[in-house]
Amino acid sequence: VFPLEEKLVPVVCPYCGVGCRLYIKSLDGYPRGIEYAKDIPGISNENGKLCPKGNAVLEYLLAKDRLKKPLKATEQGKFVEISWSEAIKEVAERLRAYSKDDPNAMMFFGSARTFNEPNYLIQKLARMLGTNNVDHCARLCHSSTVSGLKAVFGAGAMTNTYKDIEEANVIFIIGHNYAETHPVGFRYVLKAKERGAKVIVADPRFTRTAWFADIFLQHYPGTDIALLNGMMHVIIKENLYDEDFVRRRCVGFDELARTVEKFTPEYVEKITGVPAELIVQAARTFATAGKGVITWAMGLTQHTHGHDNVRLAATLSAICGYQGKEGCGVSPMRGQNNVQGACDLGVLPNVFPGYQAVTDPEKRKFFEEFWGVELSGEVGLTVIEAAHAIEKGKVKAYYVMGENPVISDANTNHVLKALQKLEFMVVQDIVPTPTMEFADIVLPAAAMLENEGSLTNTERRVQWSFQALNPPGEARPDWWIVSEIGKAAGFSGDGARGFRYTSPEDILREINACTPQYRGITPERLKSNLAGIHWPCPSEDHPGTRVLYKERFLTPDGKAHLAAVDYRGPAEVPDEEYPFLLTTIRYVGHYHTLTMTGRSRALVKRWPEPLAEIHPEDAERLGIKTGDWIKIETRRGAYPVRAKVTRTVKKGVIAVPWHWGANVLTNDALDPVSKIPETKACACRIAKI
Ligand code: SF4
Repeated sequence: VFPLEEKLVPVVCPYCGVGCRLYIKSLDGYPRGIEYAKDIPGISNENGKLCPKGNAVLEYLLAKDRLKKPLKATEQGKFVEISWSEAIKEVAERLRAYSKDDPNAMMFFGSARTFNEPNYLIQKLARMLGTNNVDHCARLCHSSTVSGLKAVFGAGAMTNTYKDIEEANVIFIIGHNYAETHPVGFRYVLKAKERGAKVIVADPRFTRTAWFADIFLQHYPGTDIALLNGMMHVIIKENLYDEDFVRRRCVGFDELARTVEKFTPEYVEKITGVPAELIVQAARTFATAGKGVITWAMGLTQHTHGHDNVRLAATLSAICGYQGKEGCGVSPMRGQNNVQGACDLGVLPNVFPGYQAVTDPEKRKFFEEFWGVELSGEVGLTVIEAAHAIEKGKVKAYYVMGENPVISDANTNHVLKALQKLEFMVVQDIVPTPTMEFADIVLPAAAMLENEGSLTNTERRVQWSFQALNPPGEARPDWWIVSEIGKAAGFSGDGARGFRYTSPEDILREINACTPQYRGITPERLKSNLAGIHWPCPSEDHPGTRVLYKERFLTPDGKAHLAAVDYRGPAEVPDEEYPFLLTTIRYVGHYHTLTMTGRSRALVKRWPEPLAEIHPEDAERLGIKTGDWIKIETRRGAYPVRAKVTRTVKKGVIAVPWHWGANVLTNDALDPVSKIPETKACACRIAKI
């Protein structure tokens, strides 16, 4: 008997978009612990440190309820185990039948929690079956970032990297509890602050991030347009903008100046609740710093005006000349660890990989020749639109890979009602989820650390994560499952014309061939460079790109298209019946819908339950004390939760963590451009139970 050797396998944390590296100690594929990656220069967690989630990364993998065999639902509503060949055959035959009769009766939900390769494959499968009905969770978190930045700069991604945050002289954090949602990334803000940089935080809630602010702007949820216009009013009036940059590289300045004219600090104070003098101070501090970064997350994006919020944040950055140079830029922080990659690889209803529009005949022709099939030029459905289409009987089949819409979508009572109407549903996941209850076929997937492939963090850094552990039972990698279904559905041609892959490397090479931004990011390069490569990377000898837009923007005329937007608030505002304004928040120790962190004893012990934050004056009026059970009610549903009486929120505002199911309350009213639902602001009432 030979002693087994313990290996240190380099992986990427499967949680948030910071994309921290760590080593898994693996003994013949079994976990023996983790090791900090202190010896890899240039990674996003340079000193190897991890946050509480990263430190607890092994726990959910060992959960007793991991899915280990394919399952089929019986008529009695139970699941029975079936073989992989039975499962693949049934899924492929059913999808093929819809493809023949009515391809748009199918909807595919990709996942920001799996690698680039299976994401590329799920959209390829949907499109080869004849539909562009494919989307993923970016719709619910950053679709407005993608559309808003595309409108102003021509592309929807972070324009800089963490290094630029560290080198900035001012960092404006809006709608982003950076210290809790991206804890390791927040270290770059702290490093900048140690150097003397100023930090401005705008948030409806006094968060852990706000503790580090030099200027804190506590605005009412949904009043971002007024706040940003107010800052630009001061900057333009006091001539603090970068005139030369605006003249050379921007269009639309005159209209912007006209639009923000009425947004005096006093007028903006009335809308936002932020004192006028603080708005002036923030504007002056931001515009005069020389090097500035704006960062945001869902507090800015999840609104019916999310697209315009993002356009205004980008416009503020541009008029100050904070584009195309180091120490500057805009940094939308992606939530899940591969949201950027899933967007890049075309898991969106309107674009092929590399943001190439399905409506563009030339792009479509390229993919028709590449994949060897005729493709639809009709923009597909988003996930929220799909729920409505299911309810109307237009979408009949739903393939959900690694997502949990029953908890994550807005207005989940509506989602529950809709899913009951489906004819056929496939759920591919690592553990049972509430969404799985509606499935006809369940496909057990290997988790990220039991599998390998590339993924793209929030700063466009593409990294390879190696397989450290054995998957449990018969669980299989996502890329393998989708490939088998693709082949069984009849796509068995060679190369890009089929699904005959033998490894994720095969798939990444195909991505290199059809995705301009990833052209030079080959598996060989990624495997030998653990710090990864920032796209765009147009060739194999290109080092990757740290700062975008040094010469020109990606708009057709190469200029930044400044936004001029008048104020509009949330779709639903407080009234007599529902007098409070509800917003949703996240905890540092939990992630998404708890499918992973909810299976970690350490994290659940520290963050056992949601607490609804309520201002002391409101609490006193309603006789509520910390720890009391209250019922929050909106026009869509009711949610029982315990209260925390605190001054973190303004009078009239309630903040509730969404991980446990608070989306039963939220509003699924959509931003007209990005189609993101407004989960960050709606009217509610509360009562002590
Ligand atoms: Fe993982 Fe994000 Fe925490 Fe880093 S900051 S350890 S990527 S959850």
